[in-house]
Amino acid sequence: MCMRVPIRESIRSLPPYLAGARPPGEGRYARLASNENPFPPLPSVQAAISSAAGRINRYPELLSSTLCDELAARHRIDPAQIVAGTGSVAVLAHAVTALAAPGDEVIYAWRSFESYPIVCGVAGATSVRVPLIDHRHDLTAMAAAITERTRAVIVCSPNNPTSTAITRTELAGFLTTVPDTVAVLLDEAYIEFCDHPDICSGIDLVATFPNLVVLRTFSKAYGLAGLRVGYSVSHPDLASAIRSVSTPFGVNEVAAQAALASLTAEAELLARVEELVATRAELAAALAEQGWDLPASQANFFWFPLGDATMAAAELAVDHQVLVRPFAGEGVRVSIGDATDNAALLAVTAAWRDVVAR
Ligand SMILES: *Cc1c(COP(=O)(O)O)cnc(C)c1O
Repeated sequence: MCMRVPIRESIRSLPPYLAGARPPGEGRYARLASNENPFPPLPSVQAAISSAAGRINRYPELLSSTLCDELAARHRIDPAQIVAGTGSVAVLAHAVTALAAPGDEVIYAWRSFESYPIVCGVAGATSVRVPLIDHRHDLTAMAAAITERTRAVIVCSPNNPTSTAITRTELAGFLTTVPDTVAVLLDEAYIEFCDHPDICSGIDLVATFPNLVVLRTFSKAYGLAGLRVGYSVSHPDLASAIRSVSTPFGVNEVAAQAALASLTAEAELLARVEELVATRAELAAALAEQGWDLPASQANFFWFPLGDATMAAAELAVDHQVLVRPFAGEGVRVSIGDATDNAALLAVTAAWRDVVAR
C-alpha cells in the first residue's frame, strides 16, 4: 500500500539522529561512543529509583516542581527561572520552537552537536552554521552572522564533538555583542568536566543577560543518561515560554526521584567527575606519547580529527571491541571510560597511528 499523506518538507529533509553504536554481539565491548558516564548508578540513587517505581501508576508532578525548587536553591535563583524536561535536548528543542518560526534563523557552530540541525528543522527555522576555527567556536564570526531574522544562537561549551570550551572572558564578551533581542542558548552538557581556570558555567550571567538560556543535563556528569532529565536556566519570561511548549509531565517520577537523589549525593558524584578528569589528563599524556596532537579536552571525551581515515579507524576500533563515534570525513569522538576501556582505547589509538596519515 502506498502512504499518500503529505509530510512537511522540513520534516522529510531532516538529518537522522545517529545514536552511538551499541555492542554488535556478545563479549565485552568498550562503549566509548556516547559520552556516557562509565560509573554505575550510586546505591542511593538506585534505591530512589526502586522506590519511585512503586508509584508509576500515578502521574508525576506536572512541572517537576520539587526538582526545580531544589535546583533553584542550589543555583540561588528563583524556581520560575528553571524548566525541567526529558533530557536537555528536549528543553533546547522547546526553546527553539518557542523562539524561531519558519523563515527565522538560528545560528550555531559546525561541527557541533548533531541535534541542533534536527531541532531547528523541526521548528522550521533556517540553520546558519558557522565553521569552527581550530576545533573551537568562532564567536566573532557567529556574532557577525546575526541578521534581522536571527532569533537564537546556540553555543555548545564544551563543544560536542571537538571537546573544546569557551572561556568565561569569551562568553561575557560574546554576550555583550549579541543584541538583547536574540537569545543565546548555552548548552553546558559537559560543563562539570571543565578544569581550566577561566572556564565555568554561565548560569550566574543570566541575571545580567536576560536573553541567555543555559542548558544543563543529568545525563553525563550525573550518570543518568538512561532516565532523561535536563533543565534550562533563564529569565522567568523565557522560562515561561519554554514551559508552554513542553511535553506535559515530561520528567517521569522515576527520573525526577533519581535526579533529586543525585543532588543529595552530589559530592560523591562530583568526586567521580574529578576522577574522570584526572583520567583525562593521564590519557592525554599517553596519547601525546603516542604522537597525537589533539585539541585539549575540557569534556569527558577526545576528538581525533582523522578526516578521510575516519570510517576505517572506527572499523579498526570495532575489531578491537572498542565502540567509538565516527563523523564520516571529519573525525572520531571517543569517550573516557573505565580503566579496562581506556587501556583498550590506547591499544586502538596506537593501531590508528599505523593506518592514519598524520
Ligand atoms: C549529551 C548531550 C546533551 C544531553 O542530552 P540529554 O538530552 O540531556 O541526554 C546535550 N547537549 C550536548 C551537546 C550533548 O552532547
